[in-house]
Amino acid sequence: MIQRVIGNWKLNGSQQQITSVLTKLTQAGYGDNLGVCVPCPYIQLACQLVKESQIQIGAQDISQYEKGAYTGEVSAQMIVDVGAQFTLIGHSERRTCLAEFSSVLKNKIAQAVAAGLYVIFCVGEDLAIRKSGQADSYVLDALKDLEGVESERFAVAYEPLWAIGTGLTASLEEISNMHAVIKSYIGKRVPVLYGGSVRAANAADILAVKGVDGLLVGGASLNADEFIAIGHCARLS
Ligand code: PEP
Repeated sequence: MIQRVIGNWKLNGSQQQITSVLTKLTQAGYGDNLGVCVPCPYIQLACQLVKESQIQIGAQDISQYEKGAYTGEVSAQMIVDVGAQFTLIGHSERRTCLAEFSSVLKNKIAQAVAAGLYVIFCVGEDLAIRKSGQADSYVLDALKDLEGVESERFAVAYEPLWAIGTGLTASLEEISNMHAVIKSYIGKRVPVLYGGSVRAANAADILAVKGVDGLLVGGASLNADEFIAIGHCARLS
């Protein structure tokens, strides 16, 4: 299976930074296995910048609502309208900081699918759950939000919370075991990405783990050279 590398810029960036990084990425000759989730106001600019390439642009989140009196929200259809192809849903920072629970996430998945956006659904346990030995069942429970969604419409990103933005990565054995657990539930055809402090220095080792179909990269995707180096570690065909 082709491996994908997706960057998540979170609440970072500016027109100038996005122009600089995406211009370098387009020159690196990537296909549609490389994607970048920029903040909403920059999606249209990002789509313009990559239009001569196959690089995909995604949103970091979408509204659970289609339209109406929901001040500040951005719908899946709006994201499609400005040219993006996919969205993250259920990133742990939103689950934790913004209390996004299963019912909200299910609505978001339904909105994305209806609008034609590909979904990257993020799941992962915190350190207390891992230490208690409940990580597998916790992640399997989170995957239930995808019930009924056609397998070609989504990927899963396994992101242990204790590895996101901390400089800690899960061990290769922990990654391998959890990816096997996820695939046993959702089937082998659904790509499963790993995320959590991925850097150019550890990307090749993680991508070599059985069952790892790509990476979700936060901090390191803000730096073009680092992100390009990570992309070079992925299996492109
Ligand atoms: C993320 O944002 O999903 C992520 C994994 O962040 P980082 O790579 O910075 O840990």
